[in-house]
Amino acid sequence: MRPPGAATAQISGKAGALVPPRTPGFRTIHTDEGSRYENAHAVDDRCCGRRAHRIDVCRASDLDRASELAAAVGLGARTATLVGSLSHGDPASDLPAVAIALGATLVIKGANGTREVSSDDFFQGFLETAVGPDELLIEIKVPKMNGAKWSFQKFNRRAMDWAIVGCAVVVDGNKAGVGLVNMDSRPIRASAVEAAIGGGANATDAAASADAGTEPPADLNASVEYRRHLAKVLVRRALEEAGK
Ligand SMILES: Cc1cc2nc3c(=O)[nH]c(=O)nc-3n(C[C@H](O)[C@H](O)[C@H](O)COP(=O)(O)OP(=O)(O)OC[C@H]3O[C@@H](n4cnc5c(N)ncnc54)[C@H](O)[C@@H]3O)c2cc1C
Repeated sequence: MRPPGAATAQISGKAGALVPPRTPGFRTIHTDEGSRYENAHAVDDRCCGRRAHRIDVCRASDLDRASELAAAVGLGARTATLVGSLSHGDPASDLPAVAIALGATLVIKGANGTREVSSDDFFQGFLETAVGPDELLIEIKVPKMNGAKWSFQKFNRRAMDWAIVGCAVVVDGNKAGVGLVNMDSRPIRASAVEAAIGGGANATDAAASADAGTEPPADLNASVEYRRHLAKVLVRRALEEAGK
């Protein structure tokens, strides 16, 4: 049993299994300011709230017990976590695109030790990640990029909705990192855009290949063609906002 957080708590609440004392929301993320690594910032599971309580919840043997514990400590009900969002592996979630754009490394811990996985290899399929059933994501390492510029662009109908399409962009000189939201069965990197920026292309020309290699879904919100169009528009806006 993995620890329930804000999203799980909301769903449990709707099912009547858990009554959250507060509405979930993102909290400040704590980093170690790079003291542990020379070239990376680290975001660890302090961004989950109370670490010890999380461990208690992890050890619970069934969902009812886990929900009860979460309610008792007020944990899941008030904390939406970075590690929870990434571990969920939702192709429409915002934060996976950020991890990809930043070139983050994800640190996974289990009974057999600790291993590191790049954000490109972490997201493996629809709601599937590299985290095994007996493992937890414990830390996210983000390369230091002094002076880099960034942008996050998201198209949705209402403020709290998942993105119909979204993108995270980081620009550091002629190097760009571009992560796409809801353009495939998993969060993905827009490699063609990154290569175009590396080759000196401007924002409009680079963004023209934002949908290259993607297999966007069609649903009630958007067709495949509309998502391809959105990706190009949003990536262009993001590159421009990030100074390209
Ligand atoms: C109404 C609603 C609207 C939302 N809108 C958005 C949106 O616009 N954009 C967006 O990005 N997200 C959105 N979300 C998703 C939500 O923000 C994320 O799912 C949430 O941040 C996940 O974090 P959590 O801590 O709540 O994780 P949980 O829901 O508790 O966990 C998610 C999954 O990851 C597992 N998990 C948790 N922590 C770990 C860990 N350390 N290691 C391994 N596995 C772990 C859990 O077991 C679970 O399977 C929305 C959710 C709801 C309910």
